[in-house]
Amino acid sequence: MSHKKDDSQWPYAQIEHWPPMTYRNRLKPSSESIQSLNDFLNTENSKLQNREIQPWIPFCEGRCAFCYFPVRCERETVASYLAALKKALSLYSENKYVKSSFFNELYVGGGSPSVLQKDQIVDLLQFCRKTFNLSETATTKFTACTNSLSEEKIDLLASNNVDQLDIGIQTFDDSLRKILALRDTAQEAKKKLRIAKKHDLNISIDLLYNLPGQTVDQWQDDIKQALELEVESVDCYPLDLYSNTPLARRITEKELPYGDTATELKMYLDAYSIFKENGYLPTCHNRFSRLKEDFNEPSSEVVGSGAGFFMGHIGNFLYSDIVKVEDYITSVKAGSLPIARLATLSREDEMRRAMMMVYIRIPVDRAAFKAKFGIFPEDAFPEAIEKLRQKNLITINNGKIRLTEEGDPWRFNISWEFFNSR
Ligand code: SF4
Repeated sequence: MSHKKDDSQWPYAQIEHWPPMTYRNRLKPSSESIQSLNDFLNTENSKLQNREIQPWIPFCEGRCAFCYFPVRCERETVASYLAALKKALSLYSENKYVKSSFFNELYVGGGSPSVLQKDQIVDLLQFCRKTFNLSETATTKFTACTNSLSEEKIDLLASNNVDQLDIGIQTFDDSLRKILALRDTAQEAKKKLRIAKKHDLNISIDLLYNLPGQTVDQWQDDIKQALELEVESVDCYPLDLYSNTPLARRITEKELPYGDTATELKMYLDAYSIFKENGYLPTCHNRFSRLKEDFNEPSSEVVGSGAGFFMGHIGNFLYSDIVKVEDYITSVKAGSLPIARLATLSREDEMRRAMMMVYIRIPVDRAAFKAKFGIFPEDAFPEAIEKLRQKNLITINNGKIRLTEEGDPWRFNISWEFFNSR
């Protein structure tokens, strides 16, 4: 992979960390938009697509210094929250659309669902499996943090047909773990990963890079340790600073340094080459994986719920739920879907979304795009496509538009081009 080192030759001044159309751009729902969602949920679904169920657990043992998720560390509401979560999921499952839908993934997200007690974990898994039509080959993924993942819980998850653990490791360097306020040491975290591997669970870990004061050697060492542990995939996220986090405050007060874009780019490119050399290829948003399934079409719909859940996608509706646990419980008790933000995709949005797929390395098939929208991509987005081609960030061959290796580090910037210009 050849990359220019001089920032004047970069295609963009900064590397974007997020694509368009996240929950950040959604509005509060009006009674009309909720009514159209309900009307849609009362229709039959005949489309066979990849689809997932996502119950959301917003609880954690403690708050990591960089975390911007609205997580809850107090546990007194867990039982009433789980009752509300199951009721909210039932509100979806009772509708015609969800009843006639098949799901191929159950993803327990959060937060750290591993903080739940063993009986609560089993109950939630069983509830989801009996409430929704999960296909026979459906996979179950479970989000965990090593600190709350005891050997008994690992055993319990494996014996309850969980296939994969998604674990936020962030770094194996103890000095950086301290700065991030992670609650166990690298050695303790690695021990849990080894136990999970022994239980034949697939392991996907998150690693953060461009951390305060982190050297390129430290980053390469984190990657090396992930490879030695033989994890199946690694999601590599550049540090993203959110103003209300303890880490952002320490950086603003100059107590800690903040890495620049050149270092961030170098670290990403190092990860790209090291993983590639070791048989892990880039996929999804930020993942390097050696799992075949990670290269399938991503879920086109996500039916989920939970306080702070933000990935909802049914038909052309995108939704996120009420963030505060108590308000979520109150809303569900009143019998309404606990949706806080809702967006309805127009045909134009759908076209933009289809083009955006290049950023998760899914090529856009020109003929399929034309068949769906009645127009070829380069006629729908002439300026964006021309600009990206000229910069060698995308290519068009064999009827497919795809990201180039040159474009890979800039994939989020590329996805924004379809929103900023035609
Ligand atoms: S464990 Fe994950 S969700 Fe919980 S505070 Fe840390 S980063 Fe946030």
